[in-house]
Amino acid sequence: MELYKCSLSELIKMLKENRVKLKDIHESISFRISNVDKRIKAFVSLNNNIKIDQLKTKDYIDDYLKGLPVAFKDNMSTEGIKTTCSSKMLKKYNPPYDATVVKKVKKSGGIILGKTNMDEYAMGSSTENSAFFPTVNPWGKNRVPGGSSGGSAAAVAAGMAPVALGSDTGGSIRQPASFCGVVGLKPTYGAVSRYGLVAFASSLDQIGPLAKKVDDIAIMMNVITGKDKNDSTSINNNYPDYTKYLKNDVKGMKIGIPNQYFEMEFDDQVRNSVISAVKKLEEAGAEVKKVDVTGAEYALAAYYIIATAEASSNLARYDGVRYGLRSDNVNNLRDMFSETRKEGFGEEVKRRIMLGTYVLSAGYYDDFYLKAQKVRTLIKNDFNKIFKEFDLMVSPTTPSTAFKLGEKRDPLEMYAADIFTVPVNIAGIPAISIPCGFDNKGLPIGFQIMGPHFKEEKIIQAAYTLEKILNLDIKYPELK
Ligand code: GLN
Repeated sequence: MELYKCSLSELIKMLKENRVKLKDIHESISFRISNVDKRIKAFVSLNNNIKIDQLKTKDYIDDYLKGLPVAFKDNMSTEGIKTTCSSKMLKKYNPPYDATVVKKVKKSGGIILGKTNMDEYAMGSSTENSAFFPTVNPWGKNRVPGGSSGGSAAAVAAGMAPVALGSDTGGSIRQPASFCGVVGLKPTYGAVSRYGLVAFASSLDQIGPLAKKVDDIAIMMNVITGKDKNDSTSINNNYPDYTKYLKNDVKGMKIGIPNQYFEMEFDDQVRNSVISAVKKLEEAGAEVKKVDVTGAEYALAAYYIIATAEASSNLARYDGVRYGLRSDNVNNLRDMFSETRKEGFGEEVKRRIMLGTYVLSAGYYDDFYLKAQKVRTLIKNDFNKIFKEFDLMVSPTTPSTAFKLGEKRDPLEMYAADIFTVPVNIAGIPAISIPCGFDNKGLPIGFQIMGPHFKEEKIIQAAYTLEKILNLDIKYPELK
């Protein structure tokens, strides 16, 4: 088998057993990128500093990641490698430091492969909001890869990276994972440091892995979790060795099926595939029961108020003074601010800044922002209550499979793609998306497993079991 097709855990195993050379793996992946990225456009930039010929297996053999390549979404700061957020504003930005996750990956012997395309500032669900180019879903020429971590998901799906990191504020790891037929985990808020992640909505943003198999997710979680003194919201916890939970066993696990999610209108093929996967978990010994959830119909509205409010504040720093674009087309300071922001930000980012500024302004704050925060508390309390009785909850990741490029022109339609993913961010809980089948167009369907705060290991165990039951070997789309 070609090396680019192997999962991270397979590659680690082969390197350990001295059955393959590190150099050959990098060569295979680099060759794959040069063959298919012209069509997929998953990368904004590649790390040109990797000297493949000089890579020696033994130099990395004691490291956890063994010198293997890792792709990063282009909103994670990489020292000396451009970090653009797929925005004109940061097109030339070269961070002077590494994000904590980047540091941790490097320390574990991972090598930065490149930076992946995304919706500008992580705002979007299709990667079409990139200021540079849209990424294409490897499973369908005219289909979006999802977003905002669309480049990361497409890179993994097309065999251009064994593993990638993405960020998830309202679904941006899980939704593209679902659309591209890969696995993606959004960890508990606070489990992974956000230091060096370009902020979108700080109370919701979280970094997590995308990979071909659940094993690889466990491996990456071992690398990236942990308290960081540079991120006061990161939490000191006894993070387990997640690979210990790669067990084919859901016996006695209590799994909730949220009634209000399944009452919503969504694609029948997605529904049937998810329901059939739930049955398989039940046959394997899980105790499956329906459960009522509060606020599912308000989660999306609350999310788009809170996220835009935080974004409007976080993005105030792009004023052309300290870093990023500065418009020269001006005669005075005031114009410099406005021209810089006008030229630097795309349409969706501007829309969010305006929405966010509006919901925070005097007279509207109570009606929108405050109300959304109350909804947030209700949703969070409800999840906490449910997880007293249930180990996990499951749902589709997305209401449909990958839609067509250019299909969703109305921003509200695009926002609706997040109905199943945003409640998780609002509550700060962890959730995974794993492939559970294909629709009749050959597009992947994603299955979401949600768990209580800091119980990623339970999610990993259930996901691993489902992966085994469904016997979903890694499949590769035909790519020319
Ligand atoms: N699609 C959502 C949005 O546009 C989520 C984005 C994300 O998780 N970064 O806000």
